[in-house]
Amino acid sequence: MRKVHLITFGCQMNKLDSELAAEALADAGHILVADEAEADLVIVNACSVREHAERRVLSRLARFRGRRESENGFRLGLMGCFAERDGEALLAALPYLDFAVGTRQFFRLPEIVDRLEDGDCGLVLLSGGTESGPGVGKAGPRRRHRGIQAFVSVMRGCDNRCSYCVVPDVRGGEISRPPVEAAAEVRSLALAGAREITLLGQNIDAYGRKDGWSLAGLLRLIDAEVPDETGLVRLRFVTSHPRDVTRELAGAVDSIPRVARHFHMPAQSGSDRVLFRMRRGYDRAAYEERLAMLRKEVPGSAVASDFIVGFPGETERDFLDTVNLVETAGFQNIYVFKYSPRPGTPAARDFADDVPDEEKRRRNRTLLAVQERIGLECGRRLIGTRQLVLAEGPSPRDPDRWIGRTGENRVCVFPSPPSGEDWRGCLVLLKVESATHLTLFCRPAHDGSGEAAKAVPNEEDESWL
Ligand code: SAH
Ligand code: SF4
Repeated sequence: MRKVHLITFGCQMNKLDSELAAEALADAGHILVADEAEADLVIVNACSVREHAERRVLSRLARFRGRRESENGFRLGLMGCFAERDGEALLAALPYLDFAVGTRQFFRLPEIVDRLEDGDCGLVLLSGGTESGPGVGKAGPRRRHRGIQAFVSVMRGCDNRCSYCVVPDVRGGEISRPPVEAAAEVRSLALAGAREITLLGQNIDAYGRKDGWSLAGLLRLIDAEVPDETGLVRLRFVTSHPRDVTRELAGAVDSIPRVARHFHMPAQSGSDRVLFRMRRGYDRAAYEERLAMLRKEVPGSAVASDFIVGFPGETERDFLDTVNLVETAGFQNIYVFKYSPRPGTPAARDFADDVPDEEKRRRNRTLLAVQERIGLECGRRLIGTRQLVLAEGPSPRDPDRWIGRTGENRVCVFPSPPSGEDWRGCLVLLKVESATHLTLFCRPAHDGSGEAAKAVPNEEDESWL
């Protein structure tokens, strides 16, 4: 039996994989420890989408070198996309690394740990094959979610071939889980206490397209199979590819009250020339048309986006097209990444990484500054409105205040509940008093009688609309 500490880098999919890995290990009798100093097995679950992430992972691994060399029995492993892509080379290069396990084999961690005990170090289990799949984790959600939020992977892999992206290589092609199975997992997580569940997929709008299912249908099925009494208050999904967002999906989001009116629909660039070279499969006009469709079909919805700056050949003019998109689209939030050539991808092969790093950094800062201004304007427009907020708990920055989120994914900060009351996982009605570009500062809304509105557990209060 081992004391295992898991360290996770990267996206929500990676975080979910860590939870599933933890569950598999716990089921096999191992103990998960929060403090890495107590562990005798450390597993680093690492992302390889950008080079920067890989460098951070390598220095994290190197920090265990001393313990691996001096502590008898201490073992170090790597899982996730980085392991999938470079596991063999890393094992050869890093004598203190004991194993590497890929993105579709990590459920075999208990077996790997057994083999470690037999002295079988230098183990590589990379994916390939079909023996695993998105059903990983069927063992049940008993220890899966922390607090009120939980994630459910409804599809894995990606069939797109964006020229810069390593995901199709490290996670394989799209495989969707049957809707009934996904709905059953959502239901059991809700019954185990999850109030907000996020469905995950690299390109979730393509859910089930090879099998005759759709994301809209899945949302409707979950709404029917997981009634309010289970405690499920909110359902989210990420990430939406602009080409695959349909009117049918928008209709489902609009008509199911528990589905958050929020889309994460990365544009990546506002320049047609760059989008074409990125092989995104849409141009700027098509992106804007999808955005307009969402705004019309799902009134009040919020859209977040990702952008890559400094893509090969991106001129100042291309960049200004991106700036213009951010200025006009009214995103709720954006994530900006400096282009990072990933070995094996078409962009790395065909184009020189010709935008200097300093220039990438400047574009990154500029774009974030534009969004900060837009975010502030959006936030200020919400001052005085009432918002239904899912309370998450005390703010990590200020223990006297709590945080929560609106359905549109805006972070709200509000005074702690009266002593003796625990609002965690409750919907609370708040009034926005002030705003920064990312945060709304709120007070409990008053219901007219002078009394603060009470927390509303488990039910949508339409009166705020
Ligand atoms: N499947 C999601 C994105 C997965 S990767 C989608 O298509 O939207 C998350 C983000 O990382 C991407 O949206 C992109 O903005 C960024 N990214 C991916 N590859 C990158 C690279 N080589 N360099 C810089 N950013 C990258
Ligand atoms: Fe990568 Fe494009 Fe697939 Fe997203 S849609 S995972 S960016 S290939």
